[in-house]
Amino acid sequence: MYISADGLPPETLLQDYDLCIVGAGAAGLAMAKRLAGSSMRVLLLSSGSAHDRGRPTAARQSIYRGTLGDFMQKVDPIFLERSRLHMHGGTTNHFGFWSRPLDPIDFRARPGYRDAAWSLTLDDLAPYYLAAHEFGHFGPFNYDDMPFWEAALYAQPFPPQPGDALHGAIMHAQYEESLHDFQVQFDAELRASQNVTVLFNAHLLRIETTEARNRVTRLTCATIEDGAQGRTVYVQARRFVLAMGGIESVRALRLAGDLGNNRKDHLGRGFMVHPLLVNAAKARFAQPVPLSVRGFFRDQQVRLMPPADGVSDYTPVHTPLVNPEHVFDLCVFNAWGVLVPTEAALEAEGIGNFRLILRFNPAGDAVEVNLNWEQVPNEASSITLNPSQVDPIFGQPVAHLDWRLLPEDKRTAVRALDICADYLRSRGAVDWALLTDLRGGAEEWSFAPHIGMLETGDHHMGALRMSAHPDDGIVNPDARMHSVENLYVAGCSIFPTGGFANPTLTIVALALRLADHLRAT
Ligand SMILES: Cc1cc2nc3c(=O)[nH]c(=O)nc-3n(C[C@H](O)[C@H](O)[C@H](O)COP(=O)(O)OP(=O)(O)OC[C@H]3O[C@@H](n4cnc5c(N)ncnc54)[C@H](O)[C@@H]3O)c2cc1C
Repeated sequence: MYISADGLPPETLLQDYDLCIVGAGAAGLAMAKRLAGSSMRVLLLSSGSAHDRGRPTAARQSIYRGTLGDFMQKVDPIFLERSRLHMHGGTTNHFGFWSRPLDPIDFRARPGYRDAAWSLTLDDLAPYYLAAHEFGHFGPFNYDDMPFWEAALYAQPFPPQPGDALHGAIMHAQYEESLHDFQVQFDAELRASQNVTVLFNAHLLRIETTEARNRVTRLTCATIEDGAQGRTVYVQARRFVLAMGGIESVRALRLAGDLGNNRKDHLGRGFMVHPLLVNAAKARFAQPVPLSVRGFFRDQQVRLMPPADGVSDYTPVHTPLVNPEHVFDLCVFNAWGVLVPTEAALEAEGIGNFRLILRFNPAGDAVEVNLNWEQVPNEASSITLNPSQVDPIFGQPVAHLDWRLLPEDKRTAVRALDICADYLRSRGAVDWALLTDLRGGAEEWSFAPHIGMLETGDHHMGALRMSAHPDDGIVNPDARMHSVENLYVAGCSIFPTGGFANPTLTIVALALRLADHLRAT
């Protein structure tokens, strides 16, 4: 059911909820959808309105302004406002749902490269990945079934050679707006839900706790009315989930006096993004690369015929359909191939995971390489408050983001491109040239907006990392804060490491897992 906080009398106390989820983006909406129809009474706080589409109001988005450390200021001075959306549906309104699960190696500690590791395994997440995958309407969950994808894409990656450090892997995307803006996708179900209430125009301002700070007692929320702070609403529930995105969930805990910080001061630390070189290198080929190989690396619309019995395999549909009625039966999305390292190469090199997108010219005799990679979680990379600047609506201190890289991060980029050069040379590339300057220290890059500049993938990870032991992170493997018994976190701030994969599939998988855990306990 939908209600709006600006329709409630001022100072209303909403109570008797089993669960209050704060934030209606990818994570919050995934949880609400999972819990719809359950016996739990759930309140989902959405900052936006039921009609939000595309972009937030300027007033609401202005809350996302903050300040940046020197390094991020050089890489992307508008990162805080550009890479997130303060609205119903959150930042899903920005994306095309590029998806791939994390790899097994992303979950493990990598002694000598990074100590951080997940306290979950890929197997723990597997059933939730399956369910999350359905949010993208991506057909079968078989990212690594190459024969299937070679048939679907009408193309194969370069034939493997002994000793290859790279291999082909599949990415999916869903460009159909109604299937990637989560607030559109789940509108009808949540509107009709009897047990899930979506409270619109509800902004969390303050988390109140017991004196011992080990239980949340109440949330203070406020509306935005006529572009300014409006009425106050209070919420009481048995349990609470912060699902306000990777930066704002940290800001809320900082505003609550560093609620949930541990003895090692991990709160807000270990913030990661995926560093990105859109134009990292280029190569020429003496002979054009066959279309059948180039096609593998091209973003293609894929149409699959779902199995009639719901059990057997999906079938790729290549030919134009004779019967237009079938169009509506098809599963339609985008897929393409990328190059990724083998586990053996990653272990031998002691570097982070990465993904290479190859963009061929129409003649097929030249290629440009796009590199996106895993960053090492790094305590100096942090989210704090900037007390000297407040947001223009509620007057609370803004977030200060100091994104930092380590020498290991530079090394991953250097070695990934060396490995790519070797791989392409063995496939006939005759000229290989870097388009970016990889000399210098961890934070020396090309920053000016031209070919070869360092960019950030729009993925906010870490800062409230999951850990088995309270000394090593902020939330436990159930995503509950180690030191606050009824407060949970959903979203990619709980990622201990980030791999290279776009994170939302994993965010949704973790959110569904948390929803099931809360329902079961
Ligand atoms: C341009 C762009 C493209 C992207 N493309 C992809 C992609 O293809 N694939 C992929 O996997 N990821 C992609 N991402 C990242 C993806 O959008 C995020 O990973 C995902 O949306 C994060 O989900 P979330 O629920 O944690 O946060 P969000 O989706 O940001 O949701 C947070 C919600 O909390 C609300 N909120 C914040 N503060 C408060 C408050 N005080 N009170 C109440 N509510 C509050 C916000 O309004 C918002 O609704 C992209 C991001 C960008 C910017």
